[in-house]
Amino acid sequence: MEKPILSKSTFIKGLQCEKSLYLYKHHYNLKDETPAQLQAIFNQGHRVGELAQDLFPGGVDASPSSYYKIQESVFKTVDFIQKGEPIIYEATFQFNGVIAALDILVKDEDGWKAYEVKSSTSVSDVYVNDAAIQYYTIVNSGIDLKDISIVYINNQYIKQGNIDIEELFTIESVYDRVQEVLPKTPNQIERFKEVIKEDEVPDIDIGPHCSKPYDCDFKGYCWSHIPDYSVFNISRLNVNKKFELYQQGVISFEEIDLNVTSFNSNQLLQVTSELNSVKHIDKKNISTFLEGLNYPLYFLDFETMGSAIPIYDNTRPYQQFVFQYSLHILQQENSVLDHFEYLAETKTNQDPRIGFVKQLITDCGNSGDILVYNIGFERGKLNDLISVYPQYSIEINSIINRLKDLMIPFQQRWYYTPEMKGSYSIKYVLPALVPDLSYQDLEIKEGGTASTIFAQMASGDYKGDYEKTRQDLLAYCKLDTYAMVKIYEVLKTL
Ligand code: SF4
Repeated sequence: MEKPILSKSTFIKGLQCEKSLYLYKHHYNLKDETPAQLQAIFNQGHRVGELAQDLFPGGVDASPSSYYKIQESVFKTVDFIQKGEPIIYEATFQFNGVIAALDILVKDEDGWKAYEVKSSTSVSDVYVNDAAIQYYTIVNSGIDLKDISIVYINNQYIKQGNIDIEELFTIESVYDRVQEVLPKTPNQIERFKEVIKEDEVPDIDIGPHCSKPYDCDFKGYCWSHIPDYSVFNISRLNVNKKFELYQQGVISFEEIDLNVTSFNSNQLLQVTSELNSVKHIDKKNISTFLEGLNYPLYFLDFETMGSAIPIYDNTRPYQQFVFQYSLHILQQENSVLDHFEYLAETKTNQDPRIGFVKQLITDCGNSGDILVYNIGFERGKLNDLISVYPQYSIEINSIINRLKDLMIPFQQRWYYTPEMKGSYSIKYVLPALVPDLSYQDLEIKEGGTASTIFAQMASGDYKGDYEKTRQDLLAYCKLDTYAMVKIYEVLKTL
């Protein structure tokens, strides 16, 4: 059997950008490293795929002995079909230089049916194209396919006891949608084969396609001529407008002609403060904001997690729920800072939220303002807790009523410096106001990682040192609220 030229994933790459397909085939070393977060998503997808096999139990597995021996799967699949196996996992077909593996192939009384599993919560156009290339290879390999479906996560499912996979997954036929795109498939395949045969990298410039539908993994190479801070970082500027500027040769802030390009007031502040290296500080509004705060002052931050396959009862797939908080307390001006924290146990399999809510109520006391950074998030999570634990609604509501948002002075641009780079996220505000305080020395540097690691620990998949990682999680969250205290102190010096 000839070596395949295209796989399902390179076909999808080609649909996004032919240069990406070419680079993948000929210059794989230029590919960006896979970020840990993305790898965690891939791993989760793998677990979802394995679980979905239970929808059709008792099948045979056509997986190859190694990733590099994918053609083994084609032979195994043929063999299984000849032997009359009705359920085949990782069934793989090759036709016209294209190889495509399918998660589950089933033969029932109507004939053969194909099922591709996705860990997302709906069917996207990419999945239909994905299914089309599978349909193409399967049917042309001589299988009379009666239906092809996407199996995806039902995010309305609420776990109670053991996972009910019939409820967790939704099966949706994409047969008709596949028939619509299928007439284009043979030409697309021939075109991509031509692209791969070329001697030179296709001359394709960067554009909105670099992030649509996926973030391309050759951005490090193709975007190397774009400085770290450029017109592409102008806050809330429409992506088409960014590329319009780029096409006009306007990349750095220095190249912007303010007589020609119009921006909204926040964008203008970002551009002019960068060009002139000036801070913008509205002392009056900041002072009014600070005067409205009442001691004792609490500085509170939550960490949340969610997973495709729910771990705890009364949670839905991907539902974000709290597992950790840090709380610094300033009883009065210049008093010693107190610190409290909560991090759920992962070894007991107990819902993290009940311990969280009980301790939070105790730690928050009865009076004083509770400062958070981005009030919508903490308020939303507290309201979620009320719906799960209505018996604590009075106490939780009292916490909600005391919340105040430390993000406001930055969101309103009462305080803006060029170092904030158009953002009012605490990750940009902190280095601008308190340059000595940094997350860089921490093992866990951002919330996404904290969330992923806790989810792995809770589901028993974590391979690292549990005790050390708990300390890392605590250190990360503690710095979040300590950063808020420091930001508050800077504002007060004004
Ligand atoms: S970064 Fe953009 S231009 Fe470069 S290969 Fe990827 S999609 Fe194509």
